[in-house]
Amino acid sequence: MDFELLKRVLENEPGYRYKQAVRAIFLELADDWSQVSVLPKELKSKLNSEFPLVINHTLYELSDGTTVKALIHLSDGNNIEAVLMRHKDRNTVCVSSQAGCSMACSFCATGRLGYRRNLTKFEIVMQVLLFARYLKPHQQGVTNVVVMGMGEPMLNYDNVIQALRIVNSKDIFGIGARKISVSTCGIIPGIRRLSDEEMDINLAISLHAPEGSLRSKLMPVNNRFPLDDLMSEVKKYISKKRRRVMFEYLLISGVNDSKDCSMQLVKLLKGVLGFVNLIPYNYTGEYSVSDKQTVQEFRKTLEDNGIEVTQRFAHGRDISAACGQLAAQRVVSKK
Ligand code: SAH
Repeated sequence: MDFELLKRVLENEPGYRYKQAVRAIFLELADDWSQVSVLPKELKSKLNSEFPLVINHTLYELSDGTTVKALIHLSDGNNIEAVLMRHKDRNTVCVSSQAGCSMACSFCATGRLGYRRNLTKFEIVMQVLLFARYLKPHQQGVTNVVVMGMGEPMLNYDNVIQALRIVNSKDIFGIGARKISVSTCGIIPGIRRLSDEEMDINLAISLHAPEGSLRSKLMPVNNRFPLDDLMSEVKKYISKKRRRVMFEYLLISGVNDSKDCSMQLVKLLKGVLGFVNLIPYNYTGEYSVSDKQTVQEFRKTLEDNGIEVTQRFAHGRDISAACGQLAAQRVVSKK
């Protein structure tokens, strides 16, 4: 889906047709032009052949309805994932920014896929659109967007930001900047660019280790952008934007969940405007999940030392919901 292409298809039509078409796509959430009653019949069939609204995908729903995962089949054969997490008061869509990923974090399923390509801004927006359509019959809409799916958003910066502007635009989805978050493994130039961005979206940092040598073992990106440099860039971001940063910390049994690690994390984050989001490790073939008591102790050490903590619920583990697992499983069996 591409606005430029849409403009070209409507080139010989009166100017207002473009507005009607955009309205049909993003407000009426049509998935077939024949549903769009304001358009003349011939134009509907022209649009259906030259600018189809179909998003080719497979849905996986968790039985309790809280998590829905879409595997989207792109026209070049790549598969990407988007996840809808339904809460009482919000519907959050987690979108992918790349097909595959070049960052090779040792715990991540997408990392194992390797890098395929950057997604276009429309392929990013399309993921939100898919779930907006899904929620429509429930009389609900998408309220939050997080760029925490497959890929490293800061390595596809322009397309991600342009997509988020569309998501944020009052005429399109109108999702407030504060309800949009981008997560990075620590690409410093991207964080710098984000701090100059007018749109005040939230920044999340995938930390996963409290000191450099362990972090390098888990996340090769730490060799390129070492933890100390990353933290000073994040502090600059905070002083410029005056926004709280989320530090994501994946707990892996016997690797980064010791008392020592929690104390080092306290030291690293003391006085930094932000909070830690503890993430349960989704099994990807290596490592094991930290037990409940270890998680509780880790959390308590942080909190006792004045660090705010939130804990992520393991949404949809049984449908391989997190982070590239579905695409990693299916990519070989794609029809
Ligand atoms: N590349 C970006 C965004 C995508 S990953 C980043 O690194 O932040 C989104 C989050 O899921 C990151 O915090 C990532 O570290 C985490 N993640 C990756 N593999 C995971 C796994 N097996 N279990 C739980 N979280 C995982």
